[in-house]
Amino acid sequence: MTYQSPISPGISFYEATIGDRPAYAGLPGPATADVVIIGGGFTGLQAAHHLAASGKDVVLIEGARFGDGASGRNGGQLGTGQRAWVEESEADFGRDNAGAQFAVAERAKAHLLDFATAHGIEADYRPGQISAAHKQGYVKDYRDHVRIMAEDYGYAHLSFLDRDEMAQKLGSTRYHGGTYDAGTGHINPLKYLVGLARAASKAGARLHENTRAGAISSAGGKVTVKTDAGDIVAGSALVACNAFIDGLEPVTSAHVMPIRSFIGATVPLGDDSPVIPGGESVDDSRFVVRYFRKSADGRLLFGGREAYTSDNPTDISSHIRRQIAEIYPALDSVEITHSWGGSVGITLSRRPFVREVMPNVTSIGGFSGHGVMLSNYCGKLYADHVNGGSDELEVMRNLKVGPFPGGDRFRTPLLFLALTWFSLRDKF
Ligand SMILES: Cc1cc2nc3c(=O)[nH]c(=O)nc-3n(C[C@H](O)[C@H](O)[C@H](O)COP(=O)(O)OP(=O)(O)OC[C@H]3O[C@@H](n4cnc5c(N)ncnc54)[C@H](O)[C@@H]3O)c2cc1C
Repeated sequence: MTYQSPISPGISFYEATIGDRPAYAGLPGPATADVVIIGGGFTGLQAAHHLAASGKDVVLIEGARFGDGASGRNGGQLGTGQRAWVEESEADFGRDNAGAQFAVAERAKAHLLDFATAHGIEADYRPGQISAAHKQGYVKDYRDHVRIMAEDYGYAHLSFLDRDEMAQKLGSTRYHGGTYDAGTGHINPLKYLVGLARAASKAGARLHENTRAGAISSAGGKVTVKTDAGDIVAGSALVACNAFIDGLEPVTSAHVMPIRSFIGATVPLGDDSPVIPGGESVDDSRFVVRYFRKSADGRLLFGGREAYTSDNPTDISSHIRRQIAEIYPALDSVEITHSWGGSVGITLSRRPFVREVMPNVTSIGGFSGHGVMLSNYCGKLYADHVNGGSDELEVMRNLKVGPFPGGDRFRTPLLFLALTWFSLRDKF
């Protein structure tokens, strides 16, 4: 078996507070289906829901528990657009394609919220997103971005914040300015994930946790997925393994790699805390981005530290507390009640990887830290594609995602060196 279960350390605040989650039995034995899906994060479960709801016979297998990958352990920030700003997409793909990518992302945002409403998923959605410049030199870029978004892309929810306005919004003078986005917000991702799995099961998808795919092959119009419980034979397959692909399918492995990101949750800060009084989520301009927000019960959930190897850090909390104190000095000894890590699937160009990797097998992942809304939507778009409906997935298929250099042997050390260099650049 090539699969390693998620190596993410720590029990997340989400997991510790969600209460009972429905458990889904492992695959009982060999199976046949119209579609087999590997991976029970947002991508796989959305695909399972939409395929089952349209009458397809679907089997989804997850090596661990649903949400144990990135989907149940992330920062919960939806954001707007793709991870790359439209300016960058325009330079790489031209105005029309950048516009198409932006439109997909806007539909992704609407889809996430509409799906929650339609299926009664209460995921603590709160509106508002702040992006903050950690260097003075970036402030002009943020100001220009607001104008470009409004004038060229018709996005009117974004406004510029100068240094004082930013300080008021954050309750911190650490940043130089940035933007306020009233058109997006943040969620509790595990609550969403659990509701999504319920909806997929109700729609008729056969969902199995603790069932690992050991190999996948495609021949004669059929796809075979090998598991310890027996083979699953289907007409089509979706590989939705993201950062955990680990050699299961070599094309995806060459294009999507894991980096690990860590989050700490403080004790509730109290109603009179000056920290983010409006309850928005925040990200900053660092390459190793700091992302933080308040939970529904008033804790600061702060993500920042990254690691490029599979070793687990011994003390996530102290490191996160130091990062918090750089922004909120008064919190330099705040109690951190939960700290955890997760694996983010990244690509070389930091754009999602969507590709047919063998006949009738599509692989989707590598959202590069910007997948809460996009992974959900791409799962739905995969279902539309299988059903022969709209092929909006095509927009995501052509995003110039190249393989990581270095081959099997040197990919990880080269990535380590490159990312370490970028993280050093944040500091100077
Ligand atoms: C700490 C952290 C913070 C983040 N913060 C944000 C944020 O604030 N905003 C944002 O937009 N994005 C964020 N992300 C990224 C976002 O969470 C992901 O892009 C998204 O959840 C990807 O969903 P997915 O379904 O593609 O992959 P995952 O949720 O990773 O699911 C893949 C699943 O496949 C399973 N699997 C893998 N191999 C096998 C196999 N062989 N057999 C069976 N199952 C297998 C894994 O166990 C896993 O559950 C963050 C990620 C992390 C880790």
